[in-house]
Amino acid sequence: MIELRNVVKKYGNNTVLKKINMKVHDGEVDVIIGPSGSGKSTLLRQMNLLEQPTSGEVLVDGDVVSGKVKSEVTRKTHEKIGMVFQKFNLFPHYTVLENIIHAPQVVRHESKAQATEEALSLLSQIGLTEKKDSYPASLSGGQQQRIAIIRSLAMHPNVLLFDEPTSALDPEMVEEVLKVMKNLAKSGMTMVVVTHEMGFAKQVGDRVLFVDDGQILEEDTPEKIFEHAQHERTRDFISKIL
Ligand code: ADP
Ligand code: MG
Repeated sequence: MIELRNVVKKYGNNTVLKKINMKVHDGEVDVIIGPSGSGKSTLLRQMNLLEQPTSGEVLVDGDVVSGKVKSEVTRKTHEKIGMVFQKFNLFPHYTVLENIIHAPQVVRHESKAQATEEALSLLSQIGLTEKKDSYPASLSGGQQQRIAIIRSLAMHPNVLLFDEPTSALDPEMVEEVLKVMKNLAKSGMTMVVVTHEMGFAKQVGDRVLFVDDGQILEEDTPEKIFEHAQHERTRDFISKIL
C-alpha cells in the first residue's frame, strides 16, 4: 500500500533518514519504536508527503507519488493517508462537530448534512456525542485526541499514521485513546504507529520496526523484537522503555 525505496532525507548537512526501504501492507499495523531524534517523525512525514524525500521514492498503491510537488498526485496522497499527531491539532476556534465536518465538506465536497450525519455516527462510536458543540479547549487531552482520530477517519483514509498519539497525555487518559486505536486496528485499518506502548504493539501490532540513527535496524513480530531482538542496541532500547 505504501512503499519507501531508498528514501534519504537531509536537512542541510544533517542526514536524518539513510536509505530507508519499507513496505506497509494492506490491513497491517506497523509499530515504529526508537530513540528520540532517530528520525521516526521524519519517516512518517515522507509517507504522506508532508515532506518530499531528498532522494529515493515513495510509492502508494504501486504508483510513484514523490517528486510531484503541489500536484493532483500530492493532493490525492494527502487524502488517502491521514495523520494523527502527538498534540491533537484540533482547530481551536471550531466546535468539535465543526472540526470533524470541515475537511469532508471542503476536500471531499460532501454536503453539510451528509458530513454531519457521519460525524455524529463517529462521535457516538467513541461515546462523545454530547460534546459535539464544545470547543477543544474545554475537553480533556484524551477526549481531544479521540476526536482528532475520528476527524481523520471522516476523510475515509486508506492508511492512518500516528505520531506518538498518547505521549502528550496524562497517564489516566492513555487507555481510552489506545482503545479507540485498537478497535480501529481490529476493523482492518492499515496503520503505522510511532509509539512506545508495548501493550498496544503486542495486542494489535503485526510488525515492530526499530529505528536507530535514521535506519531501520531491525523489524520483526512484536514477540521477537521485545523478547529476542537480534541487535544489542534494540535490546538496550527496549530495556529502557519497559
Ligand atoms: P524522532 O521523531 O525520532 O524523535 P525526528 O524525525 O523528529 O526524530 O528528528 C530526527 C532528526 O531530524 C533530529 O536530529 C531533528 O533535529 C532533525 N529534524 C527534524 N525535523 C527537522 C526540520 N524540519 N529541520 C531541520 N532538522 C529537523
Ligand atoms: Mg518524533
